[in-house]
Amino acid sequence: MKVSQSIDLINAVNSEEVETLKTVETLEPESVSNKICGNCQHENAPEFNFCSQCGTALNSDSISN
Ligand SMILES: [Zn+2]
Repeated sequence: MKVSQSIDLINAVNSEEVETLKTVETLEPESVSNKICGNCQHENAPEFNFCSQCGTALNSDSISN
């Protein structure tokens, strides 16, 4: 029987792929910067759309005249 041999080979390949995925996942998301409120200068988490201090919208890029 040589079936178990080929299964071992498949397992070896799979474990290599898993390690590659782990390497990708360990990328640190520290490049995301906090949003500074343009009204009160309060520092808010990047996922915030409005200032948690005064409620001003934090999309500073879309300010229109
Ligand atoms: Zn604010």
